[in-house]
Amino acid sequence: MPEQVQLDFLGDLRRTHTCGELRAADTGKRALLMGWVHRRRDLGGVIFIHLRDRDGVTQLVFHEDAGAELHTKAESLGSEYVIAAEGTVARRVAETVNATLPTGEVELVVEKLWILNESRTPPFPMEETVDVKEDARLKYRYVDLRRPHMQRNIMLRSKISFAVREFLYSQGFLEIETPFMTRSTPEGARDYLVPSRVQPGSFYALPQSPQIFKQLLMVSGYEKYFQIVRCFRDEDLRADRQPEFTQIDLEMSFPQQERIYEVVEPMVQRVFEAAGFEVPVPFPRLTYQQAMASYGTDKPDLRLPAFHVLDNQTWQLGLTFPPVAIHIPKTGTISSKERNELKEFGKERGLRVYDDLKKLDPKLVEQARALTGAADDDLLLIAGWPGAPQGQRPEETFYQACGQLRLFLAQKYNDRHKLLDPTNFKLLWVVDFPMFEWDEEEKRWNAAHHPFTSVHDEDLDKLTADPARCRAKSYDIVLNGTELGSGSIRIHRRDVQAKVFAALGFSDEEAKRRFGFLLEALEYGAPPHGGIALGLDRLVMILAGETSIREVIPFPKTARGTDLMCEAPASVPERQLRELGIRLISEKKDN
Ligand code: ASP
Repeated sequence: MPEQVQLDFLGDLRRTHTCGELRAADTGKRALLMGWVHRRRDLGGVIFIHLRDRDGVTQLVFHEDAGAELHTKAESLGSEYVIAAEGTVARRVAETVNATLPTGEVELVVEKLWILNESRTPPFPMEETVDVKEDARLKYRYVDLRRPHMQRNIMLRSKISFAVREFLYSQGFLEIETPFMTRSTPEGARDYLVPSRVQPGSFYALPQSPQIFKQLLMVSGYEKYFQIVRCFRDEDLRADRQPEFTQIDLEMSFPQQERIYEVVEPMVQRVFEAAGFEVPVPFPRLTYQQAMASYGTDKPDLRLPAFHVLDNQTWQLGLTFPPVAIHIPKTGTISSKERNELKEFGKERGLRVYDDLKKLDPKLVEQARALTGAADDDLLLIAGWPGAPQGQRPEETFYQACGQLRLFLAQKYNDRHKLLDPTNFKLLWVVDFPMFEWDEEEKRWNAAHHPFTSVHDEDLDKLTADPARCRAKSYDIVLNGTELGSGSIRIHRRDVQAKVFAALGFSDEEAKRRFGFLLEALEYGAPPHGGIALGLDRLVMILAGETSIREVIPFPKTARGTDLMCEAPASVPERQLRELGIRLISEKKDN
């Protein structure tokens, strides 16, 4: 660090404008700006500085005739120095107007300069055009967060949180906090545990969600609750997950599913509006069964056409289920190599793919064309399942394979049909999920959502007789093939909850041990209630046009759950462990 830099005190200096504010109309005004030195250019006698704050960038000019002392001080400025500069706003001559900056028509002719702090050379350039390794960005996150795209993302996040709060307050929701140090909550992941010092050998669990507490708040008569809340889940951090993430969590008393949609749809609409996008309401709805039979997934991407189940030709074609027509628009002619590749892709997933439709019954092909509306330069395939039925809902295995083929081809030919435009937002509700999922390893049924989800009134008697076909009063909100949130109408009666626990194979003791306080609460006048939670990180990621949630979380962890900046998790002194009554049985492995 250059030693000669003389730092100034802030004293009573006060900014008059932000670095994104000055315009041609301000010409002649006095201004005092503060911020970071984004870039410096010395052109002989004149020095130009791009001064940056979170609002934007303004050009400062130091003319030679402003005095040698000022000039020398300006010359000493390095990248990311923190300065204050006062002067007069001047209009730039036409040739020097910078059309890429909102402030580009003016510059500040500096008369006084204060150096509030110096900076070491930043670990990477502030320019966004430079590709920086993520590890370096995470280690020096405080510098990375200064870069314009991160500032945009974090500010968008704040704007979205505000839109949610403003909307929910306007609808009579109360923002109520729930504890972080609690007992295990039932979202199906592992818990993060916090040891108790005063009760050695006992642990709090960090909440996987506020599920039980928000239900208790309904029992307590608060009627409409929400929270923008951190949740903690100890999962293998494959894909784009974080051990702590944020949910927009809400719960209402006396709702049918429709009442929940009536709140969530305009809330989501406001959120999109805050990010500068319009989405129409109401969102379309598909039952889980419809989603599976037309998209092969419970997270359909509606930007792409559905597939269609055709009339029964199982016998003629030697198939187990009626075949399916898959249609990908505007692929044009595709080569025989590509045809083989797609057939191979299908085969690996158990499908038989017919691409030469001339060899099939013309009536079947005609039906496929009519249902899909496939045009001449579209790709039309018919897929069948020649194998034995698999799983508890066997046709779903077939549809899932068709769905994967549809997505594979849609992605492969996106440059031709351009349907997967990330700013074309297609939202929908997927409703009536199965109540249970079969756990092949444990050979038992698990709750598909969580064990407090209501079963459909008509399916109550199927709880033990036919769990595979039992539908839940649950719903997911899906955007372009991604689940944004899920929720359900809850069980509010003690007797029904007992039946569901029994169907899930919980003994009375286990149910009491884990959720006894909730079960008891249901005996003290619990109203019908229901709610939902939406993942805030994913929502902001999509609206910011990013592809990783780490780009919209200020201080995220790596895929191995490490905070590279503060180096957490970390070992702790032996004394601290002793106080907690903990002895390690294995040493910390080096990362
Ligand atoms: N607690 C649920 C979850 O975190 C959401 C809900 O049912 O409201 O997925």
